[in-house]
Amino acid sequence: MEYYNENTVLYHNGKLVKASEARMDLYSQSLHYGYGVFEGIRSYKTAAGETKIFKAEEHYERLKQSALAVNLPYIWTSEELIGATYEVLAANKLQDAYIRPIIYAPANMSFARNTESFIAIEVWEMQPFLGEKLLRVMISSFQRPNPKGFKIHAKATGHYVNSLLASHEAKGEGYDEALLMDMNNFLAEGPGANLFFEKDGELFTPEPGNILTGITRATVLEICEDLHIPVTEKKCTVEDLKNADTAFFCGTAAEVVGWKSVDDYHFPLTWSESRSALIQRAYLHRVKEEDANYKSLKTEWKAGAFTTSV
Ligand code: PMP
Repeated sequence: MEYYNENTVLYHNGKLVKASEARMDLYSQSLHYGYGVFEGIRSYKTAAGETKIFKAEEHYERLKQSALAVNLPYIWTSEELIGATYEVLAANKLQDAYIRPIIYAPANMSFARNTESFIAIEVWEMQPFLGEKLLRVMISSFQRPNPKGFKIHAKATGHYVNSLLASHEAKGEGYDEALLMDMNNFLAEGPGANLFFEKDGELFTPEPGNILTGITRATVLEICEDLHIPVTEKKCTVEDLKNADTAFFCGTAAEVVGWKSVDDYHFPLTWSESRSALIQRAYLHRVKEEDANYKSLKTEWKAGAFTTSV
């Protein structure tokens, strides 16, 4: 995967600079202690041909809240960072892109707080994060971090060592991705995505508390409300999941991606016939502002044109 080449430009502390020339301090507290915060955002070429950052305000508000949660000084406004992001996209001639803002700390080997932070916004063209085929998922031997030991609602760089370990383990065992439990052995989330599963036409998802409540998760909840698909947020068990008809991960990078199996349990419902698949289509219409397609999907759904197991 090539993230940048000689022509790539990124935003660095107020300026657009060449990615190949941008530098950061090797004595940074971020590198040594995993102490930074970041966002994962996508932009899409809309039905009207424009470049649109999906839920830009929500992502930059979360970046700010992540920084404040871990005591990183934060001096930017969402307005200026959204403007800068559109500039970086234009400078790199990208419309369908992945956007990675990151706030990092200065040189500091102590555990003392800093008086300043730095920012970079990088963009690149992205292939589907987890691929497009149905996923074979493994329940991880790693748990998500205990919320009493971390600010789990913050997208902090160091938290992602947990994600890497879980993903490495699953892939090493021949699976596509991991699903992690929380410290009480309830289902939590994937290394970089939230979980939903479907049973008898109803959707279920782990309740807030021990997960990062993603922006895509919120969008899926909005779509369910709009389509009148019942959805319940609750403490979910492995048994619930292994009795489900189908399941999916959702996240900015992953979008909505269906599952084939979890451990040795194969989901019985054909993905394309599930309500989850309908939500997957609705999500893509939404992010690309394909309003006419979304409307006709809704009309078809209301008319009962979709076959489900219910
Ligand atoms: N959980 C974790 C641990 C994540 O890293 C992500 C990706 N940010 C998500 C869930 C999904 O969040 P979002 O939909 O906001 O991308």
